[in-house]
Amino acid sequence: MNPQRILRQKLEDLQRAGVTHESSEWTTLLDEISEVVTSAQTATPMTDPRSAESSRVAVTPHPKATSAATTSPDGAATPTADPPSEKPHPAAIASTVPVARQFLPSSSGSLPGEFSADTARSCSSLSRDERVAGLTKAAEQVAACVRCQELAETRTQTVFGVGNPEADIMYIGEAPGADEDRLGEPFVGRAGQKLDDIIKACKLTREEIYICNILRCRPPGNRNPTPDEAANCREYLDAQIEAVDPKYIVCWGSVAAHSLLGTKVAIGKMRGRFFDYKGIKVLCTYHPSYLLRSPGVRKDVWADMKMFRADMGVLLG
Ligand code: SF4
Repeated sequence: MNPQRILRQKLEDLQRAGVTHESSEWTTLLDEISEVVTSAQTATPMTDPRSAESSRVAVTPHPKATSAATTSPDGAATPTADPPSEKPHPAAIASTVPVARQFLPSSSGSLPGEFSADTARSCSSLSRDERVAGLTKAAEQVAACVRCQELAETRTQTVFGVGNPEADIMYIGEAPGADEDRLGEPFVGRAGQKLDDIIKACKLTREEIYICNILRCRPPGNRNPTPDEAANCREYLDAQIEAVDPKYIVCWGSVAAHSLLGTKVAIGKMRGRFFDYKGIKVLCTYHPSYLLRSPGVRKDVWADMKMFRADMGVLLG
């Protein structure tokens, strides 16, 4: 049986035994374990080139927004009652997840460097036209990219990125899912709707943000990207960051956080602070799809959003 299914079943057994709520630490640990098990089981993809396929180029510049939404926080980002403090005893975890325990080093390691005034980059001198040109060039390369053979053969289209080329804020997710693969845009579908709730609660609009993913092609079955796939696609992410030159990056989920910042520290330990990436402030928090599965982390995401927006001078309730 799939180790992840075993883990889930064991968790359900634990819940039936009386642990009726998942703390955010427990669910984070479970996801970390599942993620590493998946990575350990994933074969390295071939990178043989093949002929280029036509794909949609999704560069959608918008004029920089000048007004903000005023909807009060609700939905995903609304603070909720504190999750229960009850955590499974370490011994319970050990007896529940023996298969995954050997893969636990993903929750260890050191945190990336935090942002400081000394590391802040100076304002970009790129014009809007230069930014659009940089994005367009990268999008054309992505549309023809076949570096990840499995992904190139199974995708409907590439999903480059959308949003304001002059945005102060860049959101980075994991990889396209089925809806994104079908529509050619990142963060659509249920996770996208949840992200929209968060954007609105943060008094932002999508037109003020640039949104992309670590990968630009859908991994079959919505599996996690492999390290090789992330490395293959990094050139395009770097091109998008360089063109947009945001002041803030929000990494949604551990895949984005780990890939961008080169760490394996659990996302639960990374959230709540700004890291530095080439002079850009980087905030890491839970992925909206994880929020859908684990509403106990809503208060953590909302605390991250309040910190993030307060740093931009916007106080949220
Ligand atoms: S995921 Fe990125 S590197 Fe891999 S085939 Fe798609 S565009 Fe190319």
